[in-house]
Amino acid sequence: MNQTSNSAQSQDIVCIVCPNGCRIHCEPNDQGFRFTGQKCRRGIDYATAELTKPMRTLTTSVKTIFPDAPVISVRTDGEIEKSKLQDAVERISKITVDQRVKIGDVVIENVCGSGVNIICTSDRLIHSY
Ligand code: SF4
Repeated sequence: MNQTSNSAQSQDIVCIVCPNGCRIHCEPNDQGFRFTGQKCRRGIDYATAELTKPMRTLTTSVKTIFPDAPVISVRTDGEIEKSKLQDAVERISKITVDQRVKIGDVVIENVCGSGVNIICTSDRLIHSY
């Protein structure tokens, strides 16, 4: 039995850490949660993070000024708090890339104060396909 900070209701969380996809039942109790259904410790860590501070990688696209590649793909260079995703998407939607960036170049630094950057994931602006 393992526990973390409490929440109101029991819920099931599917662990996505490995292909097993364990369905972890999270039952609240006085000390936090009781977890069942996970095959390993990583599932408990994943469920704990989902219950307390869920994180996500954001993948989207951004406009450019270049007619040969009017949009390019971008993503966060780390995980961002799920609660900040919408703000990050809005911030990204308001910019237009005006330099021929390549894969890995930072498009937005420290997006929404999250500590992660938005980086380019395409070479469309430097290679024609
Ligand atoms: S609990 Fe462990 S075995 Fe199950 S999906 Fe998560 S990482 Fe894989």
